[in-house]
Amino acid sequence: MTLDLEAARTPATILALLHVRGADRLRSVVLRRNRRTLWSLTRRSTVLNLHEAYARAPDSLLDAFAELVRGAPSRSRAYDRARREVAAWPGVHRAMRAAGWKPPRCAATPAQRVHLRRLYRFLNATRFEGRLPGAIPIRLSGRFRRRLGQMVSGYDAGRRVVREIALSVELMLRENDALRIDTLLHEMAHAIHFLDEGGLDHGPRWRWWARRVGCEPRACREGPVHRPREAGALITRVPPLPEGWRDRAAGAAAVAGGGAGDAVVSGAPSFGESPQARPRSASAASTTASAVSPNSR
Ligand SMILES: [Zn+2]
Repeated sequence: MTLDLEAARTPATILALLHVRGADRLRSVVLRRNRRTLWSLTRRSTVLNLHEAYARAPDSLLDAFAELVRGAPSRSRAYDRARREVAAWPGVHRAMRAAGWKPPRCAATPAQRVHLRRLYRFLNATRFEGRLPGAIPIRLSGRFRRRLGQMVSGYDAGRRVVREIALSVELMLRENDALRIDTLLHEMAHAIHFLDEGGLDHGPRWRWWARRVGCEPRACREGPVHRPREAGALITRVPPLPEGWRDRAAGAAAVAGGGAGDAVVSGAPSFGESPQARPRSASAASTTASAVSPNSR
């Protein structure tokens, strides 16, 4: 039998190869067919969850994964380089494209959808100098547990794209008005960081953007998030738009001679965030370092 370099490794083999590379604390490797999460480290960095495509990754990527396990939760240069390396591997992006990406269910009412689109455009114009795409899909999720939002990045024909920004539907409650704006700015900062330079972390460049646009330059904020009085209650509230929105919209219409069309930016898979980052849901798995749905709060 000849050695087939394209053959997929088993989790046990990957584990052994990572141990040889100094990833001593690792207890198990789990291969998953994720839609969006590339990898994540859970259980105090003892479990490495990998997109199944990585079972065919070259040895150089195993070096990078070993670095991620050894380095977590540090933010050393070597760690960052390894994170970029595994996120950029074309094999996993091909696999994700083949699997297709469908946005999860949106919990927004039609009126809430209009609100979010207007809010996004307003913030893009007033805080980002209009540098973000005209209409990144903004979704409300009723399934985030502790996460407040996330930005899903991807690649289309090698071009960086933002698939969506998702916010927890609970951010539509009156008590969360300030947190809603802060969270959306947080995710928009991830979007521009990714589109401009491929960044998907909360490093110095992201923090530069966060300060510039006026959101908390912190990786995660675990609330306090106000919850609906009845768990599971439908949240249909449409919050007021920020002051100045009407003037801005009127001015833009006068200049543009009408509303701007929605340029839908769709993208591909994505990856993750840092050890200290808030626990992720589906794509973002749970605690700890991960490479997947970048962004996210
Ligand atoms: Zn974030």
